[in-house]
Amino acid sequence: MRISDKAAARLKELGAAVRPGVSMSEQTSLGIGGTTDEILLARYDTIPQVMRLLADEHIPHRFLGGGTNVLIADGELPWVMLHLPAARPGWRIEGHAAYVDASADLGGMVTFCAKHDLGGMEGLIGVPGSVGGALRMNAGAYGTQIGPHVKEVELYRAATGEIETLRGSDIRFDYRHTSFAPDDVMLRVKLELPSKPFKEILAGIKVCNEKRRASQPLNQKSAGCIFKNPPGGSAGRMIDELGLKGHRVGDAMVSDRHANFFVNAGHASCSDMLKLIDDVRGRVRAANGIELENEVIVWRN
Ligand SMILES: Cc1cc2nc3c(=O)[nH]c(=O)nc-3n(C[C@H](O)[C@H](O)[C@H](O)COP(=O)(O)OP(=O)(O)OC[C@H]3O[C@@H](n4cnc5c(N)ncnc54)[C@H](O)[C@@H]3O)c2cc1C
Repeated sequence: MRISDKAAARLKELGAAVRPGVSMSEQTSLGIGGTTDEILLARYDTIPQVMRLLADEHIPHRFLGGGTNVLIADGELPWVMLHLPAARPGWRIEGHAAYVDASADLGGMVTFCAKHDLGGMEGLIGVPGSVGGALRMNAGAYGTQIGPHVKEVELYRAATGEIETLRGSDIRFDYRHTSFAPDDVMLRVKLELPSKPFKEILAGIKVCNEKRRASQPLNQKSAGCIFKNPPGGSAGRMIDELGLKGHRVGDAMVSDRHANFFVNAGHASCSDMLKLIDDVRGRVRAANGIELENEVIVWRN
């Protein structure tokens, strides 16, 4: 989608920059996605004005964090992509509380807190992407999820058009699902973390990193797990038991290292990946009677 010169000029007045015709294959860990204009926001406090402008100009939009959990359609996309201010994201510690901007890198946040002897998030160390994406997804690994540590979230609420603060206890954090409205935009978080000596946190981080390196195709393009685990089961094990590691549609392939990671082994398109997802889901349904639900967020055009 192209932003008109008039809208681009108004965005500029609000400090936002427009980057025309960006391929989302360069913005996502899967290396898949069509082309659209991007809006790079400069300040959090101008977000309500930017959103009003987009509504007035009838410009549909999506928010992209690190692009590590999305599968984006091919071709010219019918919405623009918004990015939170990314330059020098803020983070500070006060006692047991960490205040972190949503555009910050999640792993960077874990190590920053560790350096202040605040732990509890070691499991999240290898989860790529931004703090905002982790809040939206309730990212988790190795028995840790971000949700239980959340005390407050400052967010733009599309329902009111205002920036508001929600208490952690008023937000539902479920398995890779949260009660935020689809068009809420996370801006900052306050986390409450337990004290732990830096050395102990570092040891936990090392264990998690080793587990990840031993089981995941970290040198290939992926979006992490494609499917959520069904209650009491493992999507990866079910796919593996069907002998589907290495199964492919074009360059979209079930990883031969971790069966719930689907990788872009060359020049896969979104359509290849969607066909592979449907094919594997159908085979698991036929063999196990279980309908696997996507963990990856799919943006079709
Ligand atoms: C190699 C690899 C390993 C992974 N391992 C794990 C794992 O162990 N556990 C796990 O949970 N995930 C894992 N993931 C998936 C992914 O890293 C997480 O879901 C991550 O939290 C997504 O963050 P992101 O910033 O990249 O979000 P994006 O992919 O950019 O976006 C995901 C969703 O969040 C929304 N979003 C992003 N930022 C904001 C914001 N500020 N406000 C509102 N909505 C926003 C987007 O609109 C979109 O709906 C893995 C991915 C890869 C590639």
